[in-house]
Amino acid sequence: MTKTTVIHEGDVPYRPQPTLKEALEQKKIGMYEDRIANISAFRGCKHDCVYCAFKRTLRFQKCDACRAFEPHAHLEALLKKPPKTKPGQFVTVGLTGDIAFATKDELQAIIRYCNKYPETTFVLQTKDPRIFLDQEIQNMITGNMIIGTTIETNINKHGTYSKAPSVFKRLEVMEKLDCRKMITIEPIIAFSPLFGVDIANIHPEIVWVGYDSKNHKLLEPSLYKTINLIEFLRGAGIDVREKLIRKAWNEE
Ligand code: SF4
Ligand SMILES: [Zn+2]
Repeated sequence: MTKTTVIHEGDVPYRPQPTLKEALEQKKIGMYEDRIANISAFRGCKHDCVYCAFKRTLRFQKCDACRAFEPHAHLEALLKKPPKTKPGQFVTVGLTGDIAFATKDELQAIIRYCNKYPETTFVLQTKDPRIFLDQEIQNMITGNMIIGTTIETNINKHGTYSKAPSVFKRLEVMEKLDCRKMITIEPIIAFSPLFGVDIANIHPEIVWVGYDSKNHKLLEPSLYKTINLIEFLRGAGIDVREKLIRKAWNEE
């Protein structure tokens, strides 16, 4: 399948439904288990997602801005050499925040760092992938970098859990970007039937799927729908990695 192939719903056959028992046997919990390190060169965020797990991780830092979760750079972290990655592994940069709040200079410094270590695969994750539409920034993206974003649903009005750009905007921008891509559908939120098609048309190499692990009582899809989505994406040739897979909190 080429990057420009447009996928339609009927292109990927649905597989037989797993039983609930089979589905629950697939349950796995883990935070990006193939992430072998994080280079903490950018911290803090203002997207204010209700389910943010990163705010709390900075609360014991000496730096006032870290404790306040204010977006700011720690470019001294770029002095550290990253580990080399094996196939499937990656190193994140600025996991405890969002690089969308970095200045262009800071973002370029981070990307130059990734350029310097071609034997390491980096994931640059942001809920505002529009930062990568800047042509100068795009030109700096090389094959050892994967651009990642979270897309929890494809129903815009369900995106009220965060001040980040709408899920429509994230879908649109990710489809436009011509580079290695990763999508995180976590925490998964109730979606419309074409969600699989929307994600497949981004042509991501990896998709993570997981339910909210912290009991925020989000508007969740049924397990049946989530399993269908996973099967659809796998059928489209995407490497789908499961995180917390369970029934919706309000599902019988
Ligand atoms: S975008 Fe990420 S870091 Fe920012 S508030 Fe949301 S979950 Fe937290
Ligand atoms: Zn700090």
